[in-house]
Amino acid sequence: MYDLRLAGILSTQITRYKFSGICMASLLNPTDENLNLLRNVLKSGGLVAVPTETVYGLAANAFDAEACARIFTAKGRPTNDPLICHIASLEVAESISSFNELSRKLARLFWPGPLTLILPKAKTVPDIVTAGLESVAIRCPMHSVFQQLISEIDFPLAAPSANPFAYISPTTATHVNENLGEHIDYILDGGPCELGLESTIIDARDESSPLLLRHGALSQEEIETTAGIRLIDKSSNITQGPSVAPGSALKHYSPKTGLTLSAAPIEEPAAVNPDTAYLLWKKPEGKNAENIFWLSASGSLTEAASRLYAALHEIDQLGYQQIIAQTFPEQGMGNAINDRLRRAAAK
Ligand code: AMP
Ligand code: MG
Repeated sequence: MYDLRLAGILSTQITRYKFSGICMASLLNPTDENLNLLRNVLKSGGLVAVPTETVYGLAANAFDAEACARIFTAKGRPTNDPLICHIASLEVAESISSFNELSRKLARLFWPGPLTLILPKAKTVPDIVTAGLESVAIRCPMHSVFQQLISEIDFPLAAPSANPFAYISPTTATHVNENLGEHIDYILDGGPCELGLESTIIDARDESSPLLLRHGALSQEEIETTAGIRLIDKSSNITQGPSVAPGSALKHYSPKTGLTLSAAPIEEPAAVNPDTAYLLWKKPEGKNAENIFWLSASGSLTEAASRLYAALHEIDQLGYQQIIAQTFPEQGMGNAINDRLRRAAAK
């Protein structure tokens, strides 16, 4: 566990509390005092779970290899699975990587926001962050609390999602605490994540053939239309076990409850098995049974994406024997939702 004495903040009385007998992390609201405390924790090599608009991240000083090593230990993440560096501005990103015209254009169009760019890395980025690769993944989050935290520190934050490796990503501070609280000291509570799915990842190092490595909270259509480009979809290059692209492992984003994907529509009252949780896109007609979990009353794919992980966390807590999830339309956020469901369903 991270030593508070290193941060020179022993005088601050922080009470860690117990949850089912397990020591949990302290949840801090984003007051000026708390943000200062957390900046000091990060400067001194500590880990802090932080809110972003996509999911909660487990952050450490990206220039501090030892601190970054603690991220892998806390998550049980293989060290060949590189981390995304989070920065406050394009200027900071340019100081730890090199941009070509297309990457700069994408950053100008979509930062701050849920887009991660793969770029050639500067020497200042430790190997542990990139798993020894010559490229680094960089993102500039738009969450106002994250921006406040990072705008007054002079190093990037390496931060994967704040969940045990391969489990569902957290979209609230409580999700972080319940699943990772015993391994970290602090969680900065910025409320529920607005988008609720991980960032979209693009490798535009070859300007003539930009690659979409992961579907995420910014849709392929929006990137292509706004930037006037065509992306080559490499997102289904799924691999067994750890890979160079963390989110590309075949089994990932998985609830503890076994999940099966159903291409056929699931209609009430066909959904009869009370031990099964049914995960649907839209609210079915009439009164719903309690094992029916729908993600958007109006059928908005963006709203469905924002609620997906929270629904899976809830189903896990309720102890159903299995989940049958509906396949979503392959458009907008539907692509990213299907990607997560397919990986959750992988054996
Ligand atoms: P997460 O652990 O949820 O933050 O996801 C991290 C994501 O970063 C993965 O999905 C990877 O695809 C991606 N990533 C990080 N570094 C690299 C890199 N150097 N090259 C390609 N993908 C990367
Ligand atoms: Mg993750």
